[in-house]
Amino acid sequence: MTLTTTARDAQTVIAGLRTGLYLKNEWIDAEGGKTFTVENPATGEVLAHVADGSPADADRAIAAAGAAQSDWAKTPPRQRSEILRRAYDLIIERTDDLAAIMTAEMGKPLAEARGEVAYAAEFFRWFSEEAVRISGDYTTTGDGKNRILVTRVPVGPCVLVTPWNFPLAMGTRKIGPAVAAGCTMVFKPAAQTPLTSLALVQILHEAGLPKGVLNVVTTSKASSVVGVWMKSGIARKVSFTGSTEVGKILLTQAAENVMRSSMELGGNAPFIVCADADIDRAVDGAMMAKLRNMGEACTAANRFLVHRSVAAEFTEKLSARMSALQVGDGAAPGTDIGPLIDAAGLDKVQDFVDDAVRRGAKIVVGGSRPEGPGYFYPPTVLADVSPDSTLMGAEIFGPVAPVVVFDDDDEAIALANDTEWGLVGYLFTQDIDRALRLGDELEVGMVGLNTGLVSNPAAPFGGVKQSGLGREGGKVGIDEFLEYKYLAIPR
Ligand code: NAP
Repeated sequence: MTLTTTARDAQTVIAGLRTGLYLKNEWIDAEGGKTFTVENPATGEVLAHVADGSPADADRAIAAAGAAQSDWAKTPPRQRSEILRRAYDLIIERTDDLAAIMTAEMGKPLAEARGEVAYAAEFFRWFSEEAVRISGDYTTTGDGKNRILVTRVPVGPCVLVTPWNFPLAMGTRKIGPAVAAGCTMVFKPAAQTPLTSLALVQILHEAGLPKGVLNVVTTSKASSVVGVWMKSGIARKVSFTGSTEVGKILLTQAAENVMRSSMELGGNAPFIVCADADIDRAVDGAMMAKLRNMGEACTAANRFLVHRSVAAEFTEKLSARMSALQVGDGAAPGTDIGPLIDAAGLDKVQDFVDDAVRRGAKIVVGGSRPEGPGYFYPPTVLADVSPDSTLMGAEIFGPVAPVVVFDDDDEAIALANDTEWGLVGYLFTQDIDRALRLGDELEVGMVGLNTGLVSNPAAPFGGVKQSGLGREGGKVGIDEFLEYKYLAIPR
């Protein structure tokens, strides 16, 4: 990949990528020279053939991470900080190339892809600043007989596994704190979007990450490659972003070796619009919370809970905004909504809509997929949705907004909390008392108050209940990659 400041044809950018495994700072073929294909969900065209790592390749990767850990832990924090800072600069410099790759392999419109590049880069800048602020403690025991010296040490080699929906940001959100803390890594990006991750690895290579610190295995056999790492006894931590289902498998495997675990899993976000809400602001928030990434986000508003007195106005205004959006190839000028990731994702969304309609919902806009190539689904608003519809208890992962009416705050909270997930909730009200009371009562890790966007590298991102364990970003993000160690010293 070369430095550019103007958008270029994605295929040209992709042709310049290294597509092998990355082990000990070298790009190598997978065992037997095996590869798998990466496709564009807007067109079905094959974008690249990427190394298809095997369990034997996984074994070499974790051995490399284990061998590099001790030296890497001893590097000065400033050195680790400056690597991240250089990588931040390179990401920003290559915004257009990275955005073009992401749009091609994942589908999001170019403007959104550029937004993700800025968001993703910020994790490196944030953690470059955190790397030199890792502090300990010094105190005495209660009886005054001993000194207590507390230090922080890297947890050790980490297994990083990321999903396809935010291919760059989910990588930097893990690699940033791991580098800052002094952990080595094995990294498996999603099979549908490995190209963005490979471009990121190239950047970290150029930024001077030492040999063996980051080892990357792309593969079409996720469970066997990651399984080797989980069973290795070398990895001390797993940091996973993806579905709750796979998170549970990894937690079970982590238990075998008592590995530290960070889990960023699924969501089922309620979006509550109270009677006193500023409706135009709520609609702005809804557009952001529902349609970012075509609705394929763990933070996507999944259930719109709207007070009966404002439901008609909210639904009408939201429908008008949603129906004005342009659906198409994310690389085409003017596109607002790109394709979904694959045929299975598209079928699932259509099934959710059909089920809701069978249970009495009315389609206000959208509701059926267009003909032709690409996995496109139109922005859809469903009114009068029954709370027992399947989509109320599942991640929709598509541009579908189901509206359910409530009559009082208690009912809104009961509906909002009626899910095993608890990642984020959105709350629109102009009454400060109500905002604080409902904010307290929502069983989630994050609340967007009169906003449809909560993600920020300076904030602790994460969920409660089955949405995960631990936090990424913010002041606490680095803690996930550090252990406490204490020395007892007699006075
Ligand atoms: P996924 O199916 O769980 O896959 C995530 C990653 O795990 C991919 O790299 C996948 O590899 C790998 N994987 C799959 N099965 C595995 C196994 N048995 N052992 C080890 N690794 C395995 O999730 P997804 O469909 O890519 O992503 C969507 C999900 O991610 C949604 O539930 C969304 O809510 C969640 N998400 C959460 C957050 C958050 O911060 N809370 C952020 C973004 C997304 P392959 O690609 O080869 O299948």
